[in-house]
Amino acid sequence: MGVKNLRVKIMISIPSETKNFINGSFVSNGSAQLDVISPIDGQVISKVSMSGTSELDDAVQAARKALPEWSGKTLKERVQVLYKYRELLEKHKDELTEICQIENGKTWGESKAEVEKSIELTEFACSMPQIITNEVQEVSRGVEVRLDRKPIGVVASITPFNFPNMVPHWTIPNALALGNCMILKPSEVVPVSAGRIAELLKEAGLPDGVFNIVNGGKDTVEAICDHPEIKAVSFVGSTKVAKIVYKRATSNLKRCVALGGAKNHLIVLPDANEEMTASNVIASMSGCAGQRCMAAAVMVGVDKVDHIVKRMVDEAKKIVAGDTLGSVISKEAKDRIEKYIDEAEAAGAKVLVDGRKTIVKGKEGGFYVGATIVDYVTPDMAIAKEEVFGPVISIIRTKNLDEAIAVENSSGYGNAAAVFTQSGGAAKEVMDRASAGMIGVNIGVPVPREPFPFGGWNDSKFGVCDITGKSSLEFWTQNKKTSVKWSSEAKTNWMS
Ligand code: NAD
Repeated sequence: MGVKNLRVKIMISIPSETKNFINGSFVSNGSAQLDVISPIDGQVISKVSMSGTSELDDAVQAARKALPEWSGKTLKERVQVLYKYRELLEKHKDELTEICQIENGKTWGESKAEVEKSIELTEFACSMPQIITNEVQEVSRGVEVRLDRKPIGVVASITPFNFPNMVPHWTIPNALALGNCMILKPSEVVPVSAGRIAELLKEAGLPDGVFNIVNGGKDTVEAICDHPEIKAVSFVGSTKVAKIVYKRATSNLKRCVALGGAKNHLIVLPDANEEMTASNVIASMSGCAGQRCMAAAVMVGVDKVDHIVKRMVDEAKKIVAGDTLGSVISKEAKDRIEKYIDEAEAAGAKVLVDGRKTIVKGKEGGFYVGATIVDYVTPDMAIAKEEVFGPVISIIRTKNLDEAIAVENSSGYGNAAAVFTQSGGAAKEVMDRASAGMIGVNIGVPVPREPFPFGGWNDSKFGVCDITGKSSLEFWTQNKKTSVKWSSEAKTNWMS
């Protein structure tokens, strides 16, 4: 699998209380606190403040105060801080990896890859002075129009549990480089990484108030959507909450991009390379314990693919929970995942590899589900339609490619889809007809890397822009169009 095993060495100290970060300092809000539990062994590792409107307002006021100076700097000046921050991410990579691993439960290799992706995202933001040169054109003799990108102001980013380090970096570097001041609301389930991100940004020289963290859950998110001084909200999480946030933020006249859940289909044709396809499908469904929005959830096997399924079974059996496979996030998640498998089996599906009731020796309090393959799933089963979010792949059999594409198209989600084949024509059919924002050809996790943007279709994303890459430049800025007459000789016409 190429993923290094779990390696929890505790080189780091996790704060006993994960506080808000407002105006450059950690502050306790003294109100309700929630236990932060490591899913590796079920131990409480910290407590997190659950903030309300008043803590949010403190953060917004700090951000408003910092805004004129920060947005008044040139883009080149602002990215200098991010260059230093990028070096600090590199320097503290092991420590950040360990925090991510302990609070999320993914393997050491996966946690490290996550931090490395955060570095790549920061590098993209550092390159903005090379990307954004603004636009100018002489629109009539002696008259020019120039288009500048200006910050929006105070913005918010709300993030999920499954990538405690990377998903915050989808938004922080770009939004800050473009001159905005930000309030981050991390998942209350994994809030520790964000605190360390704040410290490193400060060490890199980010002025106080430019980046703030307000911890909490539903109440905090609602307060963000309602706060009149927050101009834009980005959200990443489940579809249910993405819809709530998108509706509430936009009804309060904010711009919003809200990424939701996923149900990704991998269409496998009989001519696909057996070894490469089997290992890609299994890596896609089991990486990060299946808890990624790009994970393979359904393999649509076209015609005779038993040879590939057999190889997938061999691959899945090599995966060892607690070693090459991390934990799922909670007991509730484990129960939910196992229920989907139980119900599919009761409805006639065949469990080829069974990860239910997995217990890891020495980590009996942890939440583990082993890699699971469920064959002969039908499109009407809950396991085929709903987001399972665990290391489980359902196999739906179809007679031909048209039927397979119809199965993919019937999903309400639309994050990613992939095809495994050696036929260019078949691959192009899927590229053209799959109803998803990110497509893979012989790639199981088709994340478009920078400068390309990340974002799905249908119920996997609400809003116009994508969340990263060039598309996010539109989201985090507003255009200012200035018309200039340089010489008095320029004639007055009906438009001037
Ligand atoms: P979640 O929707 O439960 O939580 C996301 C955020 O919303 C958290 O910060 C949480 O505090 C907040 N929240 C939770 N319930 C809320 C409510 N009722 N009202 C307002 N705010 C609320 O998601 P999660 O369980 O943390 O993350 C997993 C989900 O995220 C999966 O569905 C996964 O597919 C999705 N995800 C999508 C992408 C993508 O790019 N599309 C990326 C990562 C994760």
